[in-house]
Amino acid sequence: MNLPAGFKELSSLLPGQVKANEPMSRHTTWRIGGPADIFVEPAGVRELARLVTWAHARGFPLYFIGNGSNLLVKDGGIRGIVVKIGRAFSQVQVHGTTLIAGAGTMLGVLATVAQKNGVGGLEFCAGIPGTVGGAVVMNAGANGSCMADLVQEVTVMDPSGELERWGAGKLDFGYRTSNLLGRSLVVLEITCRGVARDPDLIRAEMEQYIARRRASQPLSYPSAGSVFKNPPGGKAGWLIEQAGCKGMRQGDAQVSPVHANFIVNLGRATARDVQILIQRVQQLVYERFGITLTLEVQVLGED
Ligand SMILES: Cc1cc2nc3c(=O)[nH]c(=O)nc-3n(C[C@H](O)[C@H](O)[C@H](O)COP(=O)(O)OP(=O)(O)OC[C@H]3O[C@@H](n4cnc5c(N)ncnc54)[C@H](O)[C@@H]3O)c2cc1C
Repeated sequence: MNLPAGFKELSSLLPGQVKANEPMSRHTTWRIGGPADIFVEPAGVRELARLVTWAHARGFPLYFIGNGSNLLVKDGGIRGIVVKIGRAFSQVQVHGTTLIAGAGTMLGVLATVAQKNGVGGLEFCAGIPGTVGGAVVMNAGANGSCMADLVQEVTVMDPSGELERWGAGKLDFGYRTSNLLGRSLVVLEITCRGVARDPDLIRAEMEQYIARRRASQPLSYPSAGSVFKNPPGGKAGWLIEQAGCKGMRQGDAQVSPVHANFIVNLGRATARDVQILIQRVQQLVYERFGITLTLEVQVLGED
């Protein structure tokens, strides 16, 4: 079966949840990305299970995304099925200092629920514009903390629609990575444990983090946050600035004059523009420091 025929079949399997040729620029914070052949936002776990087993049986590739805040989708788009884990997966339960959150929950929402319930440890999530699913896969972090400090267990669905529970040890968290990255598993839910803390202190710390972001990050333009990982012992932003890249432009993509590790979309930037800038930055930093910067953003799709 080819994808157009598949689209019809899938639309009747999951009514109202399937789109064809959906521009990925609508689903990335960079506002960049060509069309996905098929784009599905499942209405719940049952629908997701139907989708993954259906696609698996037919050999159609699936790409799971959250809020698209760490994604560069190339201009040619994505051949296959993009599955957005969104609002239908965004419930949060609180049991003492343990939180159980659906993968589609925005990190800021989770942090606010924790704050209101006097659960500390999630303050660092304030201002990271991703979902819980994307955050656990990427081991998102800030201000010296990261998801690895919190996560006890993750529920994933495999390609045959079976649920598996992964303990923290199996996740093998590293700096902006985990054992879930690049696998054909979809994250459904996480269990994390914080610590009891005064809600006013939590709120004050979160407000401080958000204020710091507003002062140091170019939040008025679309971006994907930090483009490069910090190399061991160094800061990518500092290296990029010292290599003279700040403000460098290709089309409507620009190395932010505010924060050199951000590439902003000034309006009509293409993925190609961003990729050219990425290469120039890597080259200039290498020439100056002999360090090869590696990408933090995940690249999907074709030219
Ligand atoms: C302004 C700005 C500031 C940022 N600041 C930070 C920061 O301080 N710290 C930080 O770590 N990051 C930061 N980021 C990057 C980004 O927000 C995080 O990496 C975030 O955790 C990504 O979540 P997402 O839902 O957007 O994931 P996506 O970008 O949609 O996906 C990221 C990866 O996770 C996978 N994925 C997503 N959801 C699922 C799922 N349910 N199941 C399986 N795989 C999944 C995708 O396949 C992809 O490989 C920032 C981004 C922006 C735009």
